[in-house]
Amino acid sequence: MSQPEHADVVVVGGAIMGSSVATFLGRRRDWAGRIIVVERDPTYATSSTTLSAASIRLQFSTDVNIEISRFGIELIKHLDDWLGVRGEPAPEIDFVEGGYLFLATAAGRSALERNHAVQRAHDVPVALLDPAELRARFGWLHVDDLAGGSLGLSDEGWFDAYALLRAFRRKALDLGAEYVAGTVTGIEREGDRVTAVRLADGGRIACDWLVNAAGPRAADVASMAGIELPVRPRKRYVFHFDCRTPIGAAPLIIDPSGLYFRPEGPAYISGYSPGEGEPDPDSLDLRFDRAPFEAFVWPTLANRVPAFEAIRLLDGWAGHYAVSTLDHNAILGPHPDVANFLFANGFSGHGLQQAPAVGRGLAEWIATGAYETLDLGPLGYGRIVRGEPLRELNVV
Ligand SMILES: Cc1cc2nc3c(=O)[nH]c(=O)nc-3n(C[C@H](O)[C@H](O)[C@H](O)COP(=O)(O)OP(=O)(O)OC[C@H]3O[C@@H](n4cnc5c(N)ncnc54)[C@H](O)[C@@H]3O)c2cc1C
Repeated sequence: MSQPEHADVVVVGGAIMGSSVATFLGRRRDWAGRIIVVERDPTYATSSTTLSAASIRLQFSTDVNIEISRFGIELIKHLDDWLGVRGEPAPEIDFVEGGYLFLATAAGRSALERNHAVQRAHDVPVALLDPAELRARFGWLHVDDLAGGSLGLSDEGWFDAYALLRAFRRKALDLGAEYVAGTVTGIEREGDRVTAVRLADGGRIACDWLVNAAGPRAADVASMAGIELPVRPRKRYVFHFDCRTPIGAAPLIIDPSGLYFRPEGPAYISGYSPGEGEPDPDSLDLRFDRAPFEAFVWPTLANRVPAFEAIRLLDGWAGHYAVSTLDHNAILGPHPDVANFLFANGFSGHGLQQAPAVGRGLAEWIATGAYETLDLGPLGYGRIVRGEPLRELNVV
């Protein structure tokens, strides 16, 4: 197949982030241009997007992350308005508005309160509950070792990630974006500008803008342009289990150990990230290992919910966080020297919910040279250069 030879914008990676950028650019009336999205795995079987726990929350510790997710929830709740195509509704994404519950022991109580203050300043509907209130609301929860919990009262929950990806992709295609199945293996640069991408099959696409939406492979793509990007692929498991005595409706719960779990239909899913100082090697391997379920997940679940003594692992999978090692926060927008190279990278465990606001923001940047609706500047590459982290405390 002969490759198209020039695009105004080449997006490397066509999962949720790349498809959101293409959609929001295509929606703009003040911008017209050719958008080509290059995707190495059009099945998306290996993309973080489809391997995600697919949940959205407003309970972050940084102003910008709260506002980013606020637009995510707006889009999810009005999906047809944003992603409907020619009068046809968007695919059903099965949003469950179940809320998040962050639990804290005495050691974590002050952090919970600090985050609560930040969230309330943004009008996030969130309640701080003491152990007695937790027991009253969630009779199946073991609260004796807890000092409190932070419960999202609305605008938080979970959905079908693959359906959201299909919705974005369908919308982007309808708005004229072109998807090319291929792997970007090289980037041509002339001084402070990127000028073209080269593909594994020998194709070449000249471009005015390049958007790096390559997920856990983002640092490889950046290095093709001679750019260093502190984003590493880190393996994360999701464990899918059922319980002999189901506990009924529950929010997505984050245990003080870092383990999370939530309902998934009639069953549940759970996962965790290694703690500070624990091994977390780079890996693009997708093999699932059930050993952590026996060693850590099950005992931790059973400690928090006694009914979870009697659970059964149904199946599980592995996916990759694209971890920004400076501060677990996204890296967005232009490189300070190579101004037509845009980052949409380093989302750790919260990129799915950030895709709508990031796609909208990068489209604004390409069309106007500025962020219009929400200033994504605090998440710019400049903080990498300055070595100034914008640390997100609520990383799951
Ligand atoms: C276990 C797990 C749980 C998660 N839970 C949540 C959650 O609850 N909520 C949330 O918001 N987020 C969650 N995330 C994070 C979220 O899934 C990601 O941040 C998000 O999907 C990132 O989207 P992306 O498009 O940047 O990356 P990806 O989905 O990985 O897409 C990148 C795409 O780029 C393509 N690509 C890479 N290199 C090239 C190349 N050289 N040429 C062409 N194509 C290329 C890849 O094939 C891939 O399709 C979770 C992630 C994991 C792994």
